[in-house]
Amino acid sequence: MFGNQILGSVSYQGIRHFSSFDPTKNRENSEHFLCASDEEIEIALQSASISFDSFAQSTPQKRSLLLLQIVAELIEIQENIKHIYCKESGLSTDRFFIEFNRTINQLRLFASFLTNSYLEIQSETPENTDLSLPKLIKKRIGIGPVLVFGASNFPLAYSTIGGDTVSALAAGCPVIVKAHPFQPETSYLVGNAIQKAISKTDFHPGIFSQLFDDSYDLAKILIQDSRVKAVGFTGSFSGGNALLELINKREEPIPLFAEMGSSNPVFIFPELLKEKLDKWSTIFAKSITNDAGQFCTKPGIFFVPTNSDGREFVDLLTKKVLEEPSFTMLHPKIFNAFEAKKRERLEECSGELIEKKGDLVPCMAKQAILISSIESFLNSKSLQKEVFGPFALILYYSTKAELASAIDHLDGQLTASILLSDEEFVNNQDLIFKLSQKVGRIIKNGVPTGVRVCDNMHHGGPFPATTDSRFTAVGTDSIHRFTRSVVFQN
Ligand code: NAP
Repeated sequence: MFGNQILGSVSYQGIRHFSSFDPTKNRENSEHFLCASDEEIEIALQSASISFDSFAQSTPQKRSLLLLQIVAELIEIQENIKHIYCKESGLSTDRFFIEFNRTINQLRLFASFLTNSYLEIQSETPENTDLSLPKLIKKRIGIGPVLVFGASNFPLAYSTIGGDTVSALAAGCPVIVKAHPFQPETSYLVGNAIQKAISKTDFHPGIFSQLFDDSYDLAKILIQDSRVKAVGFTGSFSGGNALLELINKREEPIPLFAEMGSSNPVFIFPELLKEKLDKWSTIFAKSITNDAGQFCTKPGIFFVPTNSDGREFVDLLTKKVLEEPSFTMLHPKIFNAFEAKKRERLEECSGELIEKKGDLVPCMAKQAILISSIESFLNSKSLQKEVFGPFALILYYSTKAELASAIDHLDGQLTASILLSDEEFVNNQDLIFKLSQKVGRIIKNGVPTGVRVCDNMHHGGPFPATTDSRFTAVGTDSIHRFTRSVVFQN
């Protein structure tokens, strides 16, 4: 039995238990996880609140050491995490290593940032005695206890010790994680490493708690509690939207940084297409299908010129997408949603759906391409919604004016790719500016998957991709979601 992680230890009170699912074996795992009781929730909230003062006043250097200690603890149990990660997610060991290293690098990046670059004092304005104006010192401080919800498609890098938790701890904010119910044991192991790391410092153990639930009750209680001062969420649009509604019912408004789904449109211009047919169809087929397309940056919509090169590109892309290996999805719920959404999109546009043939094992996604027209896209608001999985929608266009209308019609997105020559790049600055109003990252001649974790990344975008387009969920700037300014005047 796995309990709730509060105050530096594990509590086994609970109110009921649930199990996770092994998608590759298509059966429930035997381990049991206890859903947090009211008393356990209260302890997590109270200890986060009590520990805030000392944590927020700690030096960035001390917080940096904490992050490095978490790295050491994670590395020590890497083998154990690997086994459980694969069992609960169906993701491969290769993918585990990529994500584990990304998680470690993210912690190290923040540790180095806190030691070398993070300035608690933002600016100082000297006093002006002639004009009798005071001196101003503008400082950053942590916003308060942060509630974190991770996504199932990154059981490490966007989960218990994902970007939200790391940036909140870096900012000096205690964190309460609601563990993702698809990977509770992975979350537990990581939570244990965090608790162990904290116990080797003199930080209050209340700066980290992790609670389990298999319903939405825990989320509701936590989000509406006045001691929670910000929320980091990575997940679906429906999940993010539900949290937004709950936040709006609070007496005291607080920021919700919800990073949600995206369809990551790809705009193909004519000039380079013939020359790049093979390369572009290969890299995009992999980007659509890798790990069953379960990435928030998976390219999901392609705008392709209606000419022979465009048709050849679509033929090649479709062929390569179907030839790529199929993968089991993270959970039967995600698999069923994927199958349903493919059919919904087909019904919405009455296009041609080309899917992988044959019988696949349960939970294994049949990758697919749906070919439709730009008119269907422009006449529908829902056709552009994310299909989470190995799927892409192809839309042929004829004129630049159609592309402009398509961009106007787009919802906010995390990314957009533009495939074009340097000359087309220069000549289409009007379209590219229009696009920049809709997305957080524009990729020239490349795929959107693979979000580099570094100082200059912006991983975000206008609603509905996120709830606040001014902030990034990836990279060191993400710390500013959980800090606020205060001015000392004298
Ligand atoms: P999800 O189903 O929204 O779950 C995320 C978390 O939110 C889970 O703990 C979930 O609990 C909870 N949740 C969902 N609906 C809720 C509600 N109505 N009330 C309270 N809590 C709720 O997302 P997921 O399936 O794990 O992740 C896949 C999605 O995340 C995709 O859409 C993907 O594009 C997106 N994603 C975005 C980013 C980004 O950076 N923008 C990164 C990775 C993934 P339950 O499981 O109990 O529902």
